[in-house]
Amino acid sequence: MRLRNVKGSREAIADSEFTINDFKEYAGRWNELFENDNPIRIEIGMGKGKFITELALNNPDINYIGIEKYSSVLIRAIEKRRELDINNLVFIRMDAVEIEEAFGEGEVDKIYLNFSDPWPKDRHAKRRLTSRQFFERYDHILKNSGNVEFKTDNRPLFDFSLEEIPQTKFKIDEYTFDLHGDKSAAIYEGNVTTEYEEKFVEKGNPICKLIASRT
Ligand code: SAM
Repeated sequence: MRLRNVKGSREAIADSEFTINDFKEYAGRWNELFENDNPIRIEIGMGKGKFITELALNNPDINYIGIEKYSSVLIRAIEKRRELDINNLVFIRMDAVEIEEAFGEGEVDKIYLNFSDPWPKDRHAKRRLTSRQFFERYDHILKNSGNVEFKTDNRPLFDFSLEEIPQTKFKIDEYTFDLHGDKSAAIYEGNVTTEYEEKFVEKGNPICKLIASRT
């Protein structure tokens, strides 16, 4: 993986070799950064990065890009990343509204949304990462056979997503209102928990999950 270290940036985040500051330059050619043609999977709103880091460790033949809006949490993911000898994980600090500027048409193989902010007010619905506005963006960057996996403990957000997604070019392939309730179910297979998921499972909150695709 060819990483550039941007000097002179103020914050540790911008200085980290694992944060890609000039991400717009890589749109459509992330394979040059990773120096291979492996599939690219992204997590939007990765927080401290437990989930995507574990996936990267378990799947060296897949490239992972974690996207997070806030430096305060992204810095935790960078600290963990520094300890690892892997070549398939980088981060972008950005608001996901810009996602189409970061990737080329059909460049992404899978999008993970985990415990996304609910934005409960109706007037903020378009900010939800499962809104039609966001799925319109995902339609551009996701390859035809690609899919979106979404987990949350927030039932109103999940119900909204179940109604909203079929009104886009995507359909719901599978869903559950209690992911951890049946660990033998296909939708649970290979489940990697996130930081929020662990917290909510401990509290006894059921975890909802859906998988959406266009095919
Ligand atoms: N995915 C992690 C987990 O499950 O443990 C963190 C979940 S936390 C509730 C939601 C995260 O998404 C926060 O770190 C927040 O800053 C980030 N986020 C929310 N909206 C975002 C956006 N539009 N673009 C990028 N990150 C966003």
